Amino acid sequence: MPKKKKRPARGLYILLLIAVLAMMAVGIALALRSGSKVPVPVPVATAPPVMTTAATAPVRAETTTATTTETETEAVTEKALPPGMVSGIRLSFYHATVYIGDPAIMPLVLMEPEDAFDKSERWESSDESVAVVDESGNITGVGEGRCIVRVTSMSNPEVYAEVIVTVEPAPEYRTTPAMSTPSRETTTMTVDEMRKDINVIGGITYVQGVMIVNKTYPLPSSYNPGGLIPEAAQAFSDMRAAASADGIYLFSHSDYRSHWSQVSIYGNYCSKYGQEAADRFSARAGYSEHQTGMTVDVNWPGDAFNGTAEAEWLEKNCAKYGFIIRYPRDKEEYTGYKYESWHIRYVGKEWAAVITGSGLSMEEFFNVPSIYPEG
Ligand SMILES: [Zn+2]
Repeated sequence: MPKKKKRPARGLYILLLIAVLAMMAVGIALALRSGSKVPVPVPVATAPPVMTTAATAPVRAETTTATTTETETEAVTEKALPPGMVSGIRLSFYHATVYIGDPAIMPLVLMEPEDAFDKSERWESSDESVAVVDESGNITGVGEGRCIVRVTSMSNPEVYAEVIVTVEPAPEYRTTPAMSTPSRETTTMTVDEMRKDINVIGGITYVQGVMIVNKTYPLPSSYNPGGLIPEAAQAFSDMRAAASADGIYLFSHSDYRSHWSQVSIYGNYCSKYGQEAADRFSARAGYSEHQTGMTVDVNWPGDAFNGTAEAEWLEKNCAKYGFIIRYPRDKEEYTGYKYESWHIRYVGKEWAAVITGSGLSMEEFFNVPSIYPEG
């Protein structure tokens, strides 16, 4: 049986080989011919190298053909997707409770795609007796009720996003709200569901009930717990005791900072290192997590603390007490800050366990940005 099958197979191979050789011969003949005929035909052969030259850039100068091909290709893409066309708008929050008399709040607008040419926007309120919005997106509460504030792309008016705004009288006392606990499987939530869980209440942003402060989400200057919130203070003292039992000495270098002390700290860093460098390790006033009263800088804030026995103990154990390493290694693109082994944030034991367990930064975990509004 196998012998019978092999013979015709071998014959087929030989036939194929002959065919291939014949085709190659014809090909070579053609190539030689066109080579002698100088430039004219072969557009298919020249076109790809020209494109590659254009793409890899350095050799630009030479060919006029390159420029033509380039513009032609661009023109074709233009027809498919006009430049400046915005295809979507993402906001930093979609629900807000604004108190009458409070300063305006402004959602950060992220137009998609990022390189859209014309990102101009138009703002409007569905009921100006409830809330008004200016041309930059500053929303101010006017009278009790609920309305919708909409931002529309000027270049593509079909694309818009909305914030549902509830306006209430200012409460007599403002207290730090109780810490939430994970109520839903964050991992099973869709991105849209997560977005709807971003609430701004009295100028303070909560994602699934967890207060968030970063380069996108500021705190009002009036927010002042006056120190670490009691829950966080208790947790820190429990953690210190546990560390001490392990022979590790931890202390709070600094925790709560008021808006105004942050003004001077950030200002000092800017004059010393320049704003760009300062933005990588120090928050602008209003954007400092230290204002939450849930943040502690442990022992010696600075790169020298990284890799110490204390830093290692902290990383390994802080979640048990409700803290997370807020700016983990290699997460600057999400958090907006370089690695800080000493900066911990209280989120409660349950959140700390799931966030730390995920290996994600807080921004990735909650799918929120951390970018200063200016860009
Ligand atoms: Zn810090």
